[in-house]
Amino acid sequence: MSDIIKLLPDHVANQIAAGEVVQRPASVVKELLENAIDAGATQIQMIIKDAGKTLIQVIDNGKGMSMTDARMAFERHATSKISTADDLFNLHTKGFRGEALASVAAIAQISVKSKREEDDLGTLLAIEGSKITKQEPVVTSKGTMISVRNLFYNVPARRKFLKSDQVELRNITDEFHRVAMVHPEVAISFTHNDTSLFNLVKSTYRQRIVGIMGAKTNEKLVPVEEETELMSIRGFIGKPEFARKTRGLQYFFVNNRFIKHNYLNHAVASAFEGLLKDKSNPSYFLYLTVPTDSVDINIHPTKTEVKFDDEHSLYAILRASVKHALGQFSVNSIDFQQEKQYEVPYDVAKNGFTQAPKIEVDPDFNPFQQDSKPEKSYQAPTFQKPPSQPWESLYAGIEETTQLIDETHTEESTSSMFQQHEVEQRNIFQLQRKFIISTLKSGLLVINQQRAHERILYEKLLRQLTVQNGVSQQLLFPIKINLPVEEVAILIALQEELEHTGFLFKSLENNVVEIEGLPLELKEKDVPGVLEAVIAKEQHDLPENTYSPADRLAQTMATSMSIKTGEVLNSEAMENLVDELFACKEPEITSSGKKIFINLSGDSLNSKFN
Ligand code: ADP
Ligand code: MG
Repeated sequence: MSDIIKLLPDHVANQIAAGEVVQRPASVVKELLENAIDAGATQIQMIIKDAGKTLIQVIDNGKGMSMTDARMAFERHATSKISTADDLFNLHTKGFRGEALASVAAIAQISVKSKREEDDLGTLLAIEGSKITKQEPVVTSKGTMISVRNLFYNVPARRKFLKSDQVELRNITDEFHRVAMVHPEVAISFTHNDTSLFNLVKSTYRQRIVGIMGAKTNEKLVPVEEETELMSIRGFIGKPEFARKTRGLQYFFVNNRFIKHNYLNHAVASAFEGLLKDKSNPSYFLYLTVPTDSVDINIHPTKTEVKFDDEHSLYAILRASVKHALGQFSVNSIDFQQEKQYEVPYDVAKNGFTQAPKIEVDPDFNPFQQDSKPEKSYQAPTFQKPPSQPWESLYAGIEETTQLIDETHTEESTSSMFQQHEVEQRNIFQLQRKFIISTLKSGLLVINQQRAHERILYEKLLRQLTVQNGVSQQLLFPIKINLPVEEVAILIALQEELEHTGFLFKSLENNVVEIEGLPLELKEKDVPGVLEAVIAKEQHDLPENTYSPADRLAQTMATSMSIKTGEVLNSEAMENLVDELFACKEPEITSSGKKIFINLSGDSLNSKFN
């Protein structure tokens, strides 16, 4: 038998290698933008068609390539950025593997125009499936323009697996953010299907972040700065009150490279401990610089994961710096609120700032009243929202009663329960601010308040979405919310459905959302949270998901609008909730299949006393 092992032809090897480097249009975007930055560009234009499936074009004013270099650039392992293995430990460029362009050339149709400062004429190259099909001199300005057309045109199996334009565009936008955010010194623009999405001028870090995330971000940023031998940190954290349910706005850059790092993420999160609402995530934009030989960025082909030499020390430094920044912010902040008080970071204490929080002490402050604020209480949907102040004491009273009922072991309250039971009417009360207990002729009903409300809202919203007749409460003053452009794009895509639920949009474009009407059950202060949840759901659930868009929207909105565990309900609100629950088609389970109530029959109670 003859030998059977052969070397793969280059174009096949390149296609295989391309699989690692180029998973989707966004991968190409990342490589091209990084090459432009590595070439020292101060201006970059990115033009995308059909979420990158038809065209990805990047134009830079960087140092350009000679004719030979332009050809070489598309060979595998061809790079100008390193020449020895030692260079790997002293990287100052984004690229270094020399395989990006070769990979892209294997699976797309490419044209390149490039010219160096010192040359009179530039070079035009066309490459298709790794083969150079055209090369000629061309009149062009200094810099490089690369156009990547019809990605995966020769690998139908890969092309078929591309996601919807919406999803692919989101990935591209993510990559664009990651590069733009770390290079505010570079003017950079992004156009999709002839619409300009970003046009960012040269600016400071802060202005760049705001330019990307929207004008409202500015007031939310708290600066962080720290210099140590092991690491220097600069950047911003989001004020605790702007923390989000989604993990969206978390950015670490190490030596100008976007990375993901669970351990360091934990360091930041733990610095926020006690300051955030349940399950919300702090936002951060942190630029870390470490000695190049103390970090290994080489362990992952797409290079978002890195390994540090001394992770434990970095953790401690990062945590302390973020705490320090939070402490400074609270000391300086005029609207600092008592309930948001937190432990004083050690270095603030060291610097003698310890007296500041004491000044703020409010002698009337009662920590037990926190949860009894009217805004936390459930308003029966059919009622007008009361003006907040006069109700405050009333609600506090209600809370006391519920607390009493909480402790049903006390003899007094147990006996009063029995007395009430003798009267032929429904008794209803709240337990642990979580359950509604209602007496029935035949026993006891224990209802999970949050789940019950979720079911009610879900059925209402779904009905409105199906018959398309949402009822709105008109707002006296429209609400204006700033969101990143791509999040507004998601809302635009959902606009019709959202309007069926009762939203009325005055405008919905670029990064501004203006709302002049709301679904009846939605409180004004909850609007940002609900929109955020809707956007997050769309971002994380791919359209291939089995639920219909209407169903998905109803579910998300119902979950985020529902009253929560921990909210105090008065008896009227509880009565309404129970009535509405049992008017539902499926009162037993939530839309995600969780049990809403249990029924303790007289018989089952009896059996417990045997
Ligand atoms: P790497 O970036 O890892 O070196 P690439 O395949 O991305 O590998 O690029 C190969 C080479 O082509 C680079 O090392 C660089 O010399 C050259 N190159 C690529 N893009 C540009 C550009 N926009 N301007 C100038 N040179 C470029
Ligand atoms: Mg590169």
